[in-house]
Amino acid sequence: QSFGPTDLNEVVTRTMRLIQNDMPTTAELAVELDLRLPRADGDAEQLKQVLINLVQNAVQAMGSQKGCITVRTEKPERFGDFRSAGGVEFVEVRVTDNGPGIPADQQPHIFVPFFTTKQKGTGLGLAICQRIVKNHGGTISVQSRVGEGTSFIIRLPALPPEV
Ligand code: ADP
Ligand code: MG
Repeated sequence: QSFGPTDLNEVVTRTMRLIQNDMPTTAELAVELDLRLPRADGDAEQLKQVLINLVQNAVQAMGSQKGCITVRTEKPERFGDFRSAGGVEFVEVRVTDNGPGIPADQQPHIFVPFFTTKQKGTGLGLAICQRIVKNHGGTISVQSRVGEGTSFIIRLPALPPEV
């Protein structure tokens, strides 16, 4: 499936502007944009939804604790004979918080619909994120350590640079 060229830096900027006012004052929001980022094949509205879900989870995880949420775009450096292997270029968006982290034994379950550790959680946020990202031909993964924080990494197929 193809969605058309989308500038993820722009999606990130617009989404963060949208949610800035709803952020608790204890949560600092930082944005780091890779200006060399190729455009992704993506639907801006759906990707906005993904970012909102991830930032919302980070906010909820930090509670009233002081902390920082960073949204970062990046074009990962390729290595090996990636291209000759017929690989697609990817662009990456990372949402990182320095909240409580996710215990290793829970990490395999967090993308499963209805898995929640919250009193009033639906457990649908990450399932929806994963569905959207997979629909884009991308991947979403988590890196987390208890007591250190959590990163969600979204990888989406990049489009060739415009001529
Ligand atoms: P919900 O937010 O309704 O609980 P989600 O699918 O969005 O459902 O998240 C599932 C679970 O993953 C959460 O209940 C929480 O345990 C864990 N989780 C998600 N994001 C984070 C995060 N940034 N820090 C710590 N735990 C997280
Ligand atoms: Mg959620």
